[in-house]
Amino acid sequence: MYKVREDEPKYVFLRKEPSQVKNQHGKFIELAQPDSELYGESLNINGDDGIGENPDRYKQHGFHFTADNCIACHACEAACSEKNDNPAHLAFRSVGYVEGGSYPSYTRLNISMACNHCDNPVCLKGCPTRAYTKFAEYGAVLQDPEICFGCGYCTWVCPYNAPQLDPVKGQVTKCNMCVDRLEVGLKPACVSACLGGALDFGVVENTPENRDQARLDIPGFPTPEITHPNIRFQQKKTLPREMTRTDSMPVKYHRDDAADKFVSELHEKGDKTRQWNWGKLLGTHENAHILFTLSTQAVFGAFLMITLGPWFGVAELTAVTSSTAFLPLLGIMLVLMGLGMFKLNMHLGKPHRFYRGFNNLRHSPLSREIAGVSAFFGSFVGYSAMSLFDASIAQLLATVFAVTGILGGALGVYYMVRIYRIKARPYWDHWQTASAFFGNTLSLGALLVGIVSLPFMTEPTSLAKLLGVIAFIGLALEAVGHIAHARDLQRGVGEGAAAYFEQTTKFGKPYISRNVLLGINLLVSLGIAVDGLSGTLGLITGVLFALSMIAMATIGRALFYVLVIPTTLPGAFFWRNREFQEHARETGMAHMPQVGVVYEGHHAFKVDELLQTVRDTRLRDAIDHVKSIVVWK
Ligand code: SF4
Repeated sequence: MYKVREDEPKYVFLRKEPSQVKNQHGKFIELAQPDSELYGESLNINGDDGIGENPDRYKQHGFHFTADNCIACHACEAACSEKNDNPAHLAFRSVGYVEGGSYPSYTRLNISMACNHCDNPVCLKGCPTRAYTKFAEYGAVLQDPEICFGCGYCTWVCPYNAPQLDPVKGQVTKCNMCVDRLEVGLKPACVSACLGGALDFGVVENTPENRDQARLDIPGFPTPEITHPNIRFQQKKTLPREMTRTDSMPVKYHRDDAADKFVSELHEKGDKTRQWNWGKLLGTHENAHILFTLSTQAVFGAFLMITLGPWFGVAELTAVTSSTAFLPLLGIMLVLMGLGMFKLNMHLGKPHRFYRGFNNLRHSPLSREIAGVSAFFGSFVGYSAMSLFDASIAQLLATVFAVTGILGGALGVYYMVRIYRIKARPYWDHWQTASAFFGNTLSLGALLVGIVSLPFMTEPTSLAKLLGVIAFIGLALEAVGHIAHARDLQRGVGEGAAAYFEQTTKFGKPYISRNVLLGINLLVSLGIAVDGLSGTLGLITGVLFALSMIAMATIGRALFYVLVIPTTLPGAFFWRNREFQEHARETGMAHMPQVGVVYEGHHAFKVDELLQTVRDTRLRDAIDHVKSIVVWK
């Protein structure tokens, strides 16, 4: 049990007082009854099987934050990091701020926040490894970094930026509510360290002494509607109508008098000209997702064509499966998809723990996507192997694998869409994600079949026409989605509108290029659907069309990842500011641990370990130089 010091001041002990029956969202505060099997379990903190005697052990607890009192001294952050032994680049609790007015009537509102141990913990539902548990004890949402394999999906779905992906250890960690302190009646370390009387803690809805508000939000706090977080606020000082963020996010908060709250809206900041920004577009941690999603969709689309085509008597596709193109096509599809899966797996913090991705089929769309895609890949390998033989049993097995492959692939692509329908990421949370993914399945699948098969066909025109039709349908689906997406983002508010702003400024040129290429590809695919591809002109058109399709798909998918702006707690000028982090990495400041920024890619740290063992200075410098290019790019 946690050791209580003899000289602990009175204010660090939890209050003992009656609590309400339900919280403001209508949920029971008492999480387990004495006759429940959950009652009397040990939390086994650090292997200690003792059970705390806190009388409120089975009630939902939460933080109370009096924003007017916070002076941004960061003592809460420091106490948390000290207790959890966190390095400089990790903080379970962060202090950010918004500001409004102009000198001398300037107002700053500081916000200190960690995990809110929500009633509806989307982190827990999203995690594919089941590293998260919501305990009846204190209602704490605890995460086990040993189970986590470092995919970072919980960091995408949490609207509060609470889970922290540690690139050094390749795993996520987060606030554990200091349950060891709660077991002995102490408030969490951050609350105990608060200098200004801003942070408090207790059974949720129990407003602390000298406070009378238990608001669900304050300016800058992402909407509580998604997860029903267990944090309550007091904020009484009059604020300007508009509060802005000092980090690089183009978002500000405007008072909506009718709703009696501040709502997020676009804040046009920075360079408003259209730029290329190739480095930022193609040099992100999400490159693995670009390759994986595009290759899986292309291969699944091609698989549908070579399996369904013969079943439905489509002569052109039946001809492909009986031509000399068939085996090279299967081989290229296998290599392409294998590469995508390998790259995605290697981007995990702990690639060797990939099998844990199946652990949460009950709740996690990511687990279901992994299961669907794995079923597809396994079936595809089986189908390819059986296709090598003529025996009737092999043909029967190939049919069985084709059916399981189609079902697995459809499930995989469907959940590939679901994992991006995240309320905390409005740019993704649109039906355009489905139209783009299913559209690409058709267009890139047709492209893949065409690139490999057409050179082998003696009479390629009719196949080219058919593939042109399929590609056209896929591209049209994608185009309609993009148009609706742009329209809805423009009309929207907050992070969605902010993402659209970056789409037309910071990444304006790649965005226009993608649209132009999409328009050209639509026209060319229509031309191919009508006329086919024949002669030298057909060959040149085919090659240019293939290149244009690949460029369009890559730029489009890269934009999909780089443009998303999550709902997060506002950062500060340096701390939790995306642009400062990028600057620190580009200039090498990130090499200094005290800056609190590390290079993306945990493999960098393996290289650092290796560097320690190299004695020759020139060799060490050379490795370090290569690392700075490879790891960051
Ligand atoms: Fe999960 Fe985020 Fe809620 Fe914490 S704040 S419980 S990490 S959703």
